[in-house]
Amino acid sequence: MKKGYYGQWGGAFIPEVLQATFEALNKVYESARADASFWQEYVDLMGNYSCRPTPLTYAENMTRHLGGAKIYIKREDLNHTGAHKANNVMGQGLLVRRMGKKRVIAETGAGQHGVATATMAARFGFACTIYMGEEDVARQRPNVFWMEKLGATVVPVTDGSRTLKDAMNEAFRDWVTSMDDTHYVIGTVCGPHPFPEMVAWFQSIIGIEARKQILAQHGRMPDRVYACVGGGSNAMGIFQGFLDEPGVELIGVEAGGHGIATGRHASRMVEGSGASAGVAQGYKTKFLQSPEGQMLDTHSIAAGLDYVGISPILADLGEKGRVRFAAATDREVIEALSLTMRKEGLIPAMESSHAFVQAIKEAPTMSKDQAIIINMSGRGDKDIFTIAHAFDDPSWKAFIVKRADEYR
Ligand SMILES: *Cc1c(COP(=O)(O)O)cnc(C)c1O
Repeated sequence: MKKGYYGQWGGAFIPEVLQATFEALNKVYESARADASFWQEYVDLMGNYSCRPTPLTYAENMTRHLGGAKIYIKREDLNHTGAHKANNVMGQGLLVRRMGKKRVIAETGAGQHGVATATMAARFGFACTIYMGEEDVARQRPNVFWMEKLGATVVPVTDGSRTLKDAMNEAFRDWVTSMDDTHYVIGTVCGPHPFPEMVAWFQSIIGIEARKQILAQHGRMPDRVYACVGGGSNAMGIFQGFLDEPGVELIGVEAGGHGIATGRHASRMVEGSGASAGVAQGYKTKFLQSPEGQMLDTHSIAAGLDYVGISPILADLGEKGRVRFAAATDREVIEALSLTMRKEGLIPAMESSHAFVQAIKEAPTMSKDQAIIINMSGRGDKDIFTIAHAFDDPSWKAFIVKRADEYR
């Protein structure tokens, strides 16, 4: 099979001017991959700067409450900046240093990938520019605040719908003129080759750890592994620990938004989602697009899942039946989040709560000697504005109004 293709999906649809840059990137990535000392350097960095290995927590109360399979939770929330995104950006940071480049750029929607990239740039001493739709800059002020304080330049993009895809176009425009000293840090397992493969490689640290941990704690392989899927990086991260175990079922949970039937969702793989094959943003996958190929507006309560495309690797694994897909609605997400907080004292991110929804549905139908792992991709306390709003908490609203008054 051609490099960078997964079945019919993937590829590298890039403009001529970027060919040399991609060749250089492929070269440094391939050499790093063949060099065991590079991986060790990465593992050491994640151990000293982030919180690796992250624990695998047995959710004893939730297990008892649901009365079925034993539930284990992989704690990616304990990473620096609060999610698995740190794994990818720090790995790419090491590659940038190997290439001798001095500047990184990235695009961000909700701002989480922007904050992670700005953190990495500060740590490595790189200049950093983050492209963000003007609409998103206005909606995500706390993340913009942190990016700027971490030393990044945040550029509001005023084109088009002034959201993620417009920011992506702008980042590519920057890269075409700056590629000699600049690396574009793509945030998930999407985009042109080698990004899907490379980001999946860095995220595989999740699955490598989880496999060892479940064997140590449960004595054998889990029966099912659940992960939420936006672009697909946290899912690919944990799934890689179990892909070669046919007895382990892998379940990807997408954003069902208001419900698949309403069309207000961000699901590409479940029956009836309406996604179709297309080439955009440098690769071929299933996109939520109009018959003319215009990208559609997506919706999710979780900003990190609100994305039109999906990893070409997951599109292929889904088509082959190796990964089963489900969708969780916004309402189900809030219920699962509540239960997890009350039963375990854990606060999953809105994104991660999607994986909890499906696991909570299925665990009671399984037997007590079976086990499942939920990948908790990030922590939810950073989502306090969205979560408090979703819970419609009156004292939170009063607090916000009072704070606003103090600034008048
Ligand atoms: C960004 C984000 C996601 C979605 O990204 P994937 O590439 O699909 O993993 C999921 N969970 C959290 C907490 C995130 O911040």
